[in-house]
Amino acid sequence: MAALRDRLGDVEAEGSTSHQGSSGVEVVLHSDPATPAPLCPHGPTLLFVKVSQGKEETRRFYACSACRDRKDCSFFQWEDEKLSGARLAAREAHNRTCQPPLSRTKCVERYLKFIELPLSQRKFCQGCQQLLLPDDWEKHLEHQVVGDISVTQLKRPSQLLYPLENKKTNAQYLFADRSCHFLIDLLSTLEFRRVLCVGTPSCFRLHELIRLKASGDKKSNIKSLLLDIDFRYSQFYVEDSFCHYNMFNHHFFDGKAALEVCRTFLQEDKGEGVIMVTDPPFGGLVEPLAVTFKKLIAMWKEGQSQGNNHKELPIFWIFPYFFESRICQFFPSFCMLDYQVDYDNHALYKHGKTGRKQSPVRIFTNIPPNKIILPVEEGYRFCPLCQRYVSLENQHCEHCNSCTSKDGRKWNHCFLCKKCVKPSWIHCSICNHCALPDHSCEGPKDGCFICGELDHKREPSESRSKEKVIR
Ligand code: SAH
Ligand code: ZN
Ligand code: ZN
Ligand code: ZN
Ligand code: ZN
Repeated sequence: MAALRDRLGDVEAEGSTSHQGSSGVEVVLHSDPATPAPLCPHGPTLLFVKVSQGKEETRRFYACSACRDRKDCSFFQWEDEKLSGARLAAREAHNRTCQPPLSRTKCVERYLKFIELPLSQRKFCQGCQQLLLPDDWEKHLEHQVVGDISVTQLKRPSQLLYPLENKKTNAQYLFADRSCHFLIDLLSTLEFRRVLCVGTPSCFRLHELIRLKASGDKKSNIKSLLLDIDFRYSQFYVEDSFCHYNMFNHHFFDGKAALEVCRTFLQEDKGEGVIMVTDPPFGGLVEPLAVTFKKLIAMWKEGQSQGNNHKELPIFWIFPYFFESRICQFFPSFCMLDYQVDYDNHALYKHGKTGRKQSPVRIFTNIPPNKIILPVEEGYRFCPLCQRYVSLENQHCEHCNSCTSKDGRKWNHCFLCKKCVKPSWIHCSICNHCALPDHSCEGPKDGCFICGELDHKREPSESRSKEKVIR
């Protein structure tokens, strides 16, 4: 584990410094309305540039915003490539065939029928990941079908559906119960009444369940709207609580009507009492996510009354700690909480058996950290000097005047580097900074933080694993 954690650190270094000498594929932010990006089945594509040895190749290309694996979306087009009418038509046809088989309206109709059925007739096909109406039964006779789908199960589809964790596109890692409850309790302590859940299906609706239980028959007054690319969720929700959405290009698959659902949700009560919670796939690029979140923020701002201009849309962005500098670059008002978010179905991001925390995943937020109480029983304490809750091991460094640890371990102050560093690092007089004892002084060797291989960062080298802002 120690080696793994230190590799995470290398990615951290990569995330915060320039990409001199690095190779990979980087995203180009362009917003020239005269040349709109071509569309793949996942909405507008993004413009990328290949970089080798720190140099950008001149020929740029468009590829899918959502899928990091060519197998999931094979879209490719050179920036300067002109397509024939026939090829464009074929592409459009292909994009259409990739859309979900049922319209959003049809899904809602089916859902409303389903909840009217007696318990004994409420069936779910695990193979097809689909709620079945009596007319469908025949087609699923040979499939794995579960019956007696309760209202509780319908309210927690993330438990009913299998997580799409093998797909790089979805990377559906669900919060462990304790983290989910922590988040939900926090939302209610902070008195939010509406939650815009961007790719956080397991958090979605759970709070309603808890509140329903707590308040007896009284209806919960927390509302939530889920935006997710996983269309399976659309079977479980009516129009105003789910939108099929791509967070890497702010694309609503169901067009304007869905966009309006989102706008209405954000602007209700003049935008009061709403928070956005997002847990994007960690392999995703920070830059397009930041662009998207700024669009959602702008949508919320439109609904603000005059004089409220200084206000910000409260946000929880759940992401690994080594993206801190990148995220804060786009959102300077954000700070990173020390709370370690745990996942149930993620081998890496789970608390170890020993109780030692291992998750590198944190919450980035623009809510003042002193308002966010971290649970003492999970090993957090309040630092009066920093005015925030930190993990017990994270000691206040009098030289840095801050609780400096990022990974939950005690960091040591290096007087040569003039900052705190990981306990496993030592000062290298050749490199003139602290590094792992077995580092190579010639250059960075940062492997994949998932598998530890040195030849790639997160996934096989062909795929896009780096990013850079080019303006
Ligand atoms: N921890 C969260 C799940 C995070 S997994 C929870 O417990 O609720 C990432 C989520 O983002 C998944 O639900 C996945 O379907 C969704 N997702 C992945 N790519 C997306 C995209 N391009 N746009 C919108 N949602 C996406
Ligand atoms: Zn695509
Ligand atoms: Zn402190
Ligand atoms: Zn220090
Ligand atoms: Zn060295």
